Order: sequence, then C-alpha cells, then structure tokens
Amino acid sequence: MVAKALASGGRVSNTFQARGTLEGELHLSNGGTDVFLDAVTLAGCVLAESAWERNLVLLFADGHRIGRGTDGFDLNSLPWTADWPAEKAFLLRVLDLAMTRRGWELLAYDPPFAMDYLHRYRAMVDGWPAPIAVVTPAAREDWRVPPPPAYLAPCPEHGIYQGMLGCRLCDLNIQPPPG
Ligand SMILES: [Zn+2]
Repeated sequence: MVAKALASGGRVSNTFQARGTLEGELHLSNGGTDVFLDAVTLAGCVLAESAWERNLVLLFADGHRIGRGTDGFDLNSLPWTADWPAEKAFLLRVLDLAMTRRGWELLAYDPPFAMDYLHRYRAMVDGWPAPIAVVTPAAREDWRVPPPPAYLAPCPEHGIYQGMLGCRLCDLNIQPPPG
C-alpha cells in the first residue's frame, strides 16, 4: 500500500515548471527525475557551444544529486540574457536530440517513460512565452561566464560533462537499479 501511494505521486516528487506556459508542470518521482536528467545531459553535452549553453547543460548534469525529492526548477529562475529567444531555442534543440535517444545505449537501464517526460517538457518549454521576473533565493549567476574547465571535462566512459559532482552516469547512488 505504501509503495503504491508513493508511486502514484505522493510526497516523493520533483517539479519542473515553466510558469507562463499553458502546458502545465512536470512532476517526476526521484527515479523519473534521474532518467529525465540523464537523457537531457546526454544530448546537451553534444550540442552546447557557448558559455551560457554549457552552464545550462551543467544544471542538468549536476541536477538532483543533492536534495533528492525536492529538486526541479522553474524555467524563469534561470539567468536568461537579452538573447533568451536563442537560449530557449537551444534548449528545444537539446530536447529534440534527446528524443532521438541520443546516447541511450550508455544507460545502465531501460528508460520506458523517458520519451514521455521529454515530450511533455518540450511542450512546456515550447509554449513558454518569455522569461518573467521571479524571486530567486540568491543572486543569479551570470551564465555568460564560462564554467570552470574541470566541470566540462568529459567522463572517459560516458563522454558527458563531469560537472561539479562527477559524471552522473557513473554515480551508482542515482542510477536506477537495472531491471
Ligand atoms: Zn561516466
């Protein structure tokens, strides 16, 4: 009974928002969040070129490693610049590439629901009209500043950014158990 209640979306949930969109929110379990972030990271590391883009991908690469069950973010909380239309377009390109299952052969598990998460999140981002001012807990970082080179060093095994917290695909604490 307990497991069923949790699985149906009780307390263990992470919320990804894009306030302003008409497409709702993405609520994911902890395992679902890991899968979602793995898929976005695998695609993002292939496409990111500018400092801003790399900082965005690092957000996903380092996401949900600390504060499990309370993660997720509102798109409006990111440090968008005057070039936000191009930045939004980049995120959509990342999601499009993720939906081609880019890099999924590196996953240690079968992600049956990842395509649904990506499809729903892409609709949210696509329908998001523009950044709105939100209260953030701390001063926003400036993502036009390149991240530390060590964060961008690729994992020798998986090729993705190692980030601040190490390669997420090598982290057995977050990888869903096989099967
Ligand atoms: Zn790795």
